[in-house]
Amino acid sequence: MRTLYTDKKLWAQSWKARTEKKRNIQSCSRCLYDVDTPHISFNDEGLCNYCEKDDEMRAQFPGGKKGEEEFVKIVDEIKIAGKGKKYDVIVGVSGGADSTYMLHLGKKYGLRMLAVHFDNTWNTTIAQQNIKNALEKLDVDLWTYVVNAQEYDDIYRAFLKSGTPDLEVPTDIALAAVLGMAAEKFGIQYIFEGHSFKTEGIAPVGWIYMDAKYIDSVHDQFGEKPMKTFPNFRFMRQLKWMLFNRIKKVRPLWYLDYNKDEAKALITKEYDWQWYGGHHLENRMTAFYHTYYLPRKFDIDMRALGYGGLIRSGQMDREEGVQLLETEPNIDYEIYDVVLKRLGFSESEFEKIMQTPKKTYRDYKTYKKLFERLRPFYYLMAKMNLIPWSFYIKYTSKDNL
Ligand SMILES: [Zn+2]
Repeated sequence: MRTLYTDKKLWAQSWKARTEKKRNIQSCSRCLYDVDTPHISFNDEGLCNYCEKDDEMRAQFPGGKKGEEEFVKIVDEIKIAGKGKKYDVIVGVSGGADSTYMLHLGKKYGLRMLAVHFDNTWNTTIAQQNIKNALEKLDVDLWTYVVNAQEYDDIYRAFLKSGTPDLEVPTDIALAAVLGMAAEKFGIQYIFEGHSFKTEGIAPVGWIYMDAKYIDSVHDQFGEKPMKTFPNFRFMRQLKWMLFNRIKKVRPLWYLDYNKDEAKALITKEYDWQWYGGHHLENRMTAFYHTYYLPRKFDIDMRALGYGGLIRSGQMDREEGVQLLETEPNIDYEIYDVVLKRLGFSESEFEKIMQTPKKTYRDYKTYKKLFERLRPFYYLMAKMNLIPWSFYIKYTSKDNL
């Protein structure tokens, strides 16, 4: 049977119809979000609430000379905290552009880095090679945490059965946990994160929501194997690392000017870095999630998020972004086959998964209410860089932005 989920032509037709529809609905005058984006609203000038939030954050993190001065101040604090220790700062690495550039920055500012990698066993060889090349060239040590592959596949199956869009949440949460574990193990007080709201945009909570209790809840219902090696990031652990270990998270790209194309050119030249065809596509499951699972089951096109960020940063024309979104997300069918085979789904079984009713994090147990109740506390924590600002903004707010 030919369906949307397996037939290239049908999928292309459906995307064309989607594009036609998108031309006739209200969209933001600046970015690529439209009325179909969760919790969106527009002001009198036609600007969306995500762009307004982005303006606020840019006022707080202006970049330029002021941003760099602030960053240098933080670098000095990091060096003081690192005195007498082997490393000053942890840098999470994925083989992607942002984290490779992070290593470059660490070196540039004279920091002794420990690179930390969470291996969810779905890496592409390009990503692994990218990590290896950069670390060799920069002479940086690597600490890797590898999860048990069968256990992790069971978690992926559980999330697919849960009917929620949050398939990649376990990887994001585990990465956060692994960074903290390394900080605790090596007595390092600072962690660099490669995130940049300026070039990556702000994801609506309806597109992605993550917390450790949510993972436990989905796993309790749909998982079949015990969770033994998965490093979850539960509330007590978060408290301990914030209040006892005082591990600080710094996002250099919130302070420094960052041009994505220039950064890519630089790391390609300096560290033999290789491009793998799209933002976040360095991991096979992440690629599947972006190019197949989200668009086909949930009508979510995450490219609107990333291109929107580039447009707000003046690194892409809005018109170019609109045109790029008109081409359907391009799944590599080899990856589709790998995912089904490795997770043990036949094509018809997987088709059922694609057709089960859509759910959200609200259908499962989460920390959301707890985070909202603790909003004033998290504000203080964000002020002290003990949690990222984006966590405070997104997870403790009741308006779900
Ligand atoms: Zn907007």
